[in-house]
Amino acid sequence: MTVSVVLFSCDLRLHDHPPLRAALDRSDEVVPLFVRDRGVDRAGFAVPNRLAFLADCLRDLDAGLRERGGRLVIRSGDVVDEVCRVAVETGADEVHMAADVSPYAHRREERLRTALAAAGRRLHVHDSVSTVVPPGALTPAGSDHFAVFTPYFRHWSGQRVRDVLGAPRVLRVPDGVGSEEPPCRKDLSGVSPGLAPGGEAAGRARLSAWLRDGLAAYEERHDDLAGDATSRLSPHLHFGTLSPVELVHRARRTGGAEAFVRQLAWRDFHRQVLAARPTACSSDYRTRHDRWRTEAAAREDAEAWREGRTGYPVIDAAMRQLRHEGWMHNRGRLLTASFLTKTMYVDWRVGARHFLDLLVDGDLANNQLNWQWAAGTGTDTRPNRVLNPVVQAKRYDPDGAYVRRWVPELAGLGRPAVHEPWRLRGLERAALDYPDPVVDLADGLARFRRSRG
Ligand code: FAD
Repeated sequence: MTVSVVLFSCDLRLHDHPPLRAALDRSDEVVPLFVRDRGVDRAGFAVPNRLAFLADCLRDLDAGLRERGGRLVIRSGDVVDEVCRVAVETGADEVHMAADVSPYAHRREERLRTALAAAGRRLHVHDSVSTVVPPGALTPAGSDHFAVFTPYFRHWSGQRVRDVLGAPRVLRVPDGVGSEEPPCRKDLSGVSPGLAPGGEAAGRARLSAWLRDGLAAYEERHDDLAGDATSRLSPHLHFGTLSPVELVHRARRTGGAEAFVRQLAWRDFHRQVLAARPTACSSDYRTRHDRWRTEAAAREDAEAWREGRTGYPVIDAAMRQLRHEGWMHNRGRLLTASFLTKTMYVDWRVGARHFLDLLVDGDLANNQLNWQWAAGTGTDTRPNRVLNPVVQAKRYDPDGAYVRRWVPELAGLGRPAVHEPWRLRGLERAALDYPDPVVDLADGLARFRRSRG
């Protein structure tokens, strides 16, 4: 009787799962294992919104495995210790897992490989589970990664995408392996009230609806803040309840998918940058010799930004959406990041941390490198561009519906006041319980240009 362990982490699905398929092909019994990793808690990544979504994912994965005659084994502790313990308990001689890119994931993989080898067991790490094209598979002449998206995308688009694997029909788990109960979202506090449900079933339902009703208009509508016309699949991609490989195949089959598929390439792009430059999650990818503001007034500005009380309606709307849903529209992310790092001239790490505290899709590669992109310290080829929140609001929220949805103080205002409430005079202004702008846009721009030099 041969046994393999499949270690799940950010790949919480049964469809298109290469490690699970390999384990089933090579052994009679499989232990589907998830370890609630204390290292992740210590690193500050275990925040209520992602823990709640994760709880849904684990319950759903367990249910899916039970339908197939198996179950999910859940343990808590140090991931390396727990995997080795389960392998020894069950007599498993192989462990299968997906490749990952964060510095923490690299260290975990190395520690696991060493510990398993010492116990006479083998670790198999599978590519293209969490990405379409694995980090490092595409490189330009003379470098270990692409630093600019456009040439990367050209190469990426020419790659053959591997075939999609079906979900297993049946699965045998060895008897007597101890497990904890899957966690439950309702036991957690501090979760955003509008947080989406997690799990593979929810992800597949969302994907089918998106392909049917959303994809065709994506190119035209993806920047429409009020229209909310993007896929909202990011948490499912982050937790791996959907496979990016399957997404590309199904989107391309549906047709009209190129603008959407291009966004999936951005995901792979950031992952290959982080894999090659692990320090980019905390240090400037390209230094601009910034002297970020740190004085008390800068801390107050950052707090107004976090609270959605900057006095710029579109910025405040987006920051409040983040707090309420644990998710924010991409255009909102671009505007709020430009506003914090350029108009307020506050360090991108301050904003990235706040996003990671709340985003259900909060992802080291995507978050830190998008923040660096917005701050101009990353891979943007126009690092000093500054987005004007009023001009952008008029373009991407022309009727003001997004602002009215998230900033109820302004719900009674028409255009153009909904985007520029400071222009109101007299009683109308006095009746508004809404702050004046915390920074003048022209002053902010001048300070940014002066400070960055
Ligand atoms: P869609 O527009 O439907 O796109 C489909 C998928 O493509 C997304 O789910 C996502 O996986 C990927 N994608 C889209 N845009 C990008 C992008 N710019 N970079 C990389 N991948 C992209 N995305 C995250 O997944 N996690 C984060 O922590 C994150 N932080 C961000 C921080 C900032 C400052 C900015 C500007 C962007 C950030 N993004 C992040 C990227 C993007 O905003 C989200 O992926 C997107 O808004 C998710 O919504 P959606 O699923 O409806 O996207």
